[in-house]
Amino acid sequence: MAGALHKAAMPFAAILASSLLTLNPVNAGSVSRIDTSDGQITVSFDGLVESASAFSLIGPDRIAIDIKGGKTGGRGGSATGMIKSVRQGQYDQNTARIVFDLAGPAVITDGAFSADGKSLRLRLQTVGGAVINSGRKSFLPPAQFRAEPPKNTYSVKVPLGKPRDEVELPKVQGPDDDSRPLVVIDAGHGGHDPGAISPHGSQREKNITLAISRAVRDQLLASGRVRVAMTRDTDKYLVLEERYGIARRLDADLFISIHADSAGNQSAAGATVYTLSEVASDREAAKLAARENRSNIINGVNLGGANRDVSSILIDLTQRETMNVSADFAKLLIREGQRMIKFRTNPHRFASLVVLKAPDTPSVLFESGYLTNKEDVELLSSRVGQSKVAIGIANAIEAHFARKLAQR
Ligand code: ZN
Repeated sequence: MAGALHKAAMPFAAILASSLLTLNPVNAGSVSRIDTSDGQITVSFDGLVESASAFSLIGPDRIAIDIKGGKTGGRGGSATGMIKSVRQGQYDQNTARIVFDLAGPAVITDGAFSADGKSLRLRLQTVGGAVINSGRKSFLPPAQFRAEPPKNTYSVKVPLGKPRDEVELPKVQGPDDDSRPLVVIDAGHGGHDPGAISPHGSQREKNITLAISRAVRDQLLASGRVRVAMTRDTDKYLVLEERYGIARRLDADLFISIHADSAGNQSAAGATVYTLSEVASDREAAKLAARENRSNIINGVNLGGANRDVSSILIDLTQRETMNVSADFAKLLIREGQRMIKFRTNPHRFASLVVLKAPDTPSVLFESGYLTNKEDVELLSSRVGQSKVAIGIANAIEAHFARKLAQR
C-alpha cells in the first residue's frame, strides 16, 4: 500500500530532485518501516537521522512527520483504525515527509526516539469537534545517535501529493450556445485563506475578490455576448491548480483571476495586470508571486500538486502561444479599462504565478488595487467602485473576443 502511494506522491519534480540528490550525496537514514497501530505510529530508519518534527492538519485531517536527515523508503504503514492511508515524499533534499491521512481530527500527544536513535514513536489522540492547531512538535534522537547536518544544502522543494479529488465544475452561465466564448472568473483566495487584509482588519481580500467577480459576471451576462463560469461563488478554498483546472476542464477561452494587494507603503495604489513569465519583471512582481503562490501552502504543507504539464521547467510551445494571447489581453484590459479603472504606472507586469500556469488557456491575474491604501480600499469595498471595475473588465473581455472574431 505504501509502495503504490509512494509512487503516486512522487511526480516528475521528485524525479528531478532525486537526480540532483546524487550530485551532493548526504549520509541520511532512510525510512525502513512504518508501523501503525491504534493511537500509535512508529517510524523505523536504517541509519541515523538529525531530528524529526510532527504536526496535525485539519480538512482533510492529517498528521505529517518531517524527518531531517532522512530519506523516504521502506514499507508498512497500512491503514489501521484512525489511519486511512500513508504517503511519503522527499520534501527537500534533506527532509523526508510522511503524511498520514486520518479518519478524523487528531493531535500528537507525545513522542520520542528510541535509545539507539533508529526509530521514532508518536502517540496520537483523536479530538472531537473544534480542533486546536497544535503547531509543530520536535523530537531529537539521543546526542550520540544523531546524524550531522549536511555541510551545504541545496534546497530542492518537491511539492507533495496531488490536488484533491477533482472539484465539481461550476455552472456555465449565459447564452445556451457553445460557440460563444467562455470566460472563467476566479475570485482569489477564500475559505481559510483570507488573502490580504486591510490595516484595521475590516476588509479581507477574499470578500472583495468575490464581490468584484460577481459584478464582472453580472456585467457580462447583461450584455449576453459571452458565457461565464466562476471558480467559486461562495466563501470556499480552492488550491491554485484547481482554479485553472476548472478553466481547462471547461475548455475556457479566457481565465481571469481577481485579487487585491497589500503593501508596506500606504501610498501604493492602483491596479496591475499580471501575466505569466518564469522571469519576474521586477522585484516587486517576484514578491507578489511569492505572496499569491503561498495560498497553496498551509502549515508548511503544499496542498497543490505538481503536474507534469504545468511544471515550471516545461513551458512548451503551446504555453508560449498562450502567453502571447494573455499578454495581448493584458494590454487591451489596460487600454479599454482605464476609463473605469485607475492603473499604476507600468501596469502590465510579469511573474511566475501558479494560478496562471494553464498551458492552453490565456490567463491574467488582475490586482484590483491595494487594501493598504485608503482610497483604494474605499473604492474596492463599495458597490459603486466594484461595478466600475467590473465594467472596465467586462468591456475589455468583449473587445478581446470581438477582435478575435474579426481576425478569423
Ligand atoms: Zn491575492
